[in-house]
Amino acid sequence: MILKTIIDLDNNYYLEIITNTIDLPADGIDIENLKLINILKEKRLLLKVNFNNFSKKQYKKLLKRLLFIKKIISKSKTKIGKSEDLKILLGYIINYDENNKEQNDFVLAINAIIAYNTRYKQYRYIYDTVCNYLDGHFYGKNVCDFKDNHCPVTANTSTITGCCKHFKYRWLGPLSKLVVCEHLNKDYTCGVKCIGCKLYTCHYLEKKGIKFRIKDFLLLDAFFNPLQKYVIKYMVYTPRDKVIKRLMKISFFS
Ligand code: SF4
Ligand code: SF4
Repeated sequence: MILKTIIDLDNNYYLEIITNTIDLPADGIDIENLKLINILKEKRLLLKVNFNNFSKKQYKKLLKRLLFIKKIISKSKTKIGKSEDLKILLGYIINYDENNKEQNDFVLAINAIIAYNTRYKQYRYIYDTVCNYLDGHFYGKNVCDFKDNHCPVTANTSTITGCCKHFKYRWLGPLSKLVVCEHLNKDYTCGVKCIGCKLYTCHYLEKKGIKFRIKDFLLLDAFFNPLQKYVIKYMVYTPRDKVIKRLMKISFFS
């Protein structure tokens, strides 16, 4: 029995990795040549993703096209992938480098489009995936160089919570006061998934060469419109579900 090398996607889908193009099955449509009419005629969407056939610059455009096609074919009798061994083969992946972050982000984006059938579920998956990536970058690594409970920016202050604090408006007395964020856990982790906070980097981190922009994340860049991107960046101190609710409300043209 020949063992297949696969990439598991969510909801039972998977991609088969082809290392030798001689073994490439004849079926499947190149992702860079997706035509709705052909897919509807075939009554099946089976993908071929050959990373040598298109450049990183085309990723966003190809994903938008795949998203559009998925929306249309979901309302028809067209099948997505083909059933194999209790799972669903979505297609083949060729010239794939598992250490290439851009390629992996492209696969995650395909997963978001194919494995999730509603916009809300797609947004939740994207949001969680990006949050987990950013957490992996910070948690347990002392990126902010905390020493004796102070980060360098707050070294000469009484604050021991880094930048997890914000102004709270009051009806009486001075208009506002600076308070520790109500979502900060006792172990100094964040109790809510707030992507805006996680994307924030102060001048100290930027000097260290750490800066996150929305356009650096294919999942954020390809799926959200400019207004949504603004919300993602600036809706700080806010739990995930509240942010997603807002993103849903302004999801036109995305
Ligand atoms: S981002 Fe900057 S201000 Fe916030 S905890 Fe890290 S070093 Fe301190
Ligand atoms: S919501 Fe933002 S400010 Fe509050 S604990 Fe989480 S990361 Fe810190």
